Amino acid sequence: MTQRPTRILVDLDAITHNLGAIRKRVGVPVMGIVKAEAYGHGLVPVARHMQAQGVDQLGVAFLEEGIALREAGIHLPILVLGGIFGPQAAELIANDLEVTVSSLDKLRQVEAAAQSLGRKATVHLKVDTGMERIGVHSYSCGPFIEAAVASQWCTVKGIYSHLACADDPASPMTAAQVERFAEACSHFDRLGVPMPLRHLANSGGVLHFPETWLDMVRPGIVLYGVLPDPDSERTLDLRPAMSVVSQVVYFKVVRAGRPVSYGATWAPDTDTRVVTVPIGYGDGWPRSLSSCGQVLIHGRRYPVAGRICMDQFMVDIGGDSAWNEDEVVLVGASGGDAIRVEEVARAAGTIPYEILTRLNARIPRSYCGGDSPTGV
Ligand SMILES: *Cc1c(COP(=O)(O)O)cnc(C)c1O
Repeated sequence: MTQRPTRILVDLDAITHNLGAIRKRVGVPVMGIVKAEAYGHGLVPVARHMQAQGVDQLGVAFLEEGIALREAGIHLPILVLGGIFGPQAAELIANDLEVTVSSLDKLRQVEAAAQSLGRKATVHLKVDTGMERIGVHSYSCGPFIEAAVASQWCTVKGIYSHLACADDPASPMTAAQVERFAEACSHFDRLGVPMPLRHLANSGGVLHFPETWLDMVRPGIVLYGVLPDPDSERTLDLRPAMSVVSQVVYFKVVRAGRPVSYGATWAPDTDTRVVTVPIGYGDGWPRSLSSCGQVLIHGRRYPVAGRICMDQFMVDIGGDSAWNEDEVVLVGASGGDAIRVEEVARAAGTIPYEILTRLNARIPRSYCGGDSPTGV
């Protein structure tokens, strides 16, 4: 079958480059975060590539993601970051996945599952230092840590917390979280047992807060060459790994005053040339880019004309020329110009994370660099 011309191109060498830049900066082991289809880049191909590049460990959100990696033959340690769902505890252990234990209750569930399997669970204790999401509050985690350390069925490999404001270098929140985390970790000293791996830094921490690096870092979005906050300073040399490209499928001249697309919300002032691009919100391309997004054709920027549809949208190319099958770049470089995910996010009124992760499986991914130039 000849595939639709819309595709996501993933440059694995960019991920290699970003991983190298992060390693050089932090000097501690790296847990590569590959949840949500590796931020839209494709879970298994990206995890395989990171494993080949010697990343120390992987992190995913859910059991299902961990199992998919095991089924693909990934042998690295994998931490499931999400709050565990009790009935899944046995499957986490059976698939050799490291478990986030975020309460005394969950510790008991994991212990029971481990005992019934006759196999110890490897766990990371989750402390809440300011997210108010999952984890035991740092100010009351003593008994929790004590119970985990005493457990016959759990090996405590790590202790961690998550930063709420690390994408903002000026936020005082991070310093407070660092201090609360240190307080939580001090229970290991009090109990006279060896300190497990302490990890705290997400991408924002890697970029802006050396005091969060500790024994391991957990970068996600920066591995893909994208900044957590479009307005933050580019303090690390990052290469975007993802391009989103399509091709012109239709050309027409639209008369002055004749509205384009659903709702008739936009019309040209003068006769203009309009091309149609076969990607829409049904692929995860944001509808909020209606009449405000831009694309690159032949290295020049053109605006989205009218509303983004489910499967296509229109672009106003003014008096310029474009032909069927000409390349349209939604993210990535064309000629001397480039559109970054950060720019798309700003235009769409959201964050780069959402732009990356909403691009769904309807768009085929293909890969270059690394050692697997394969389509998936
Ligand atoms: C998603 C996630 C990360 C990675 O976050 P980035 O901001 O993409 O670096 C790290 N730790 C936890 C617990 C996460 O859920």
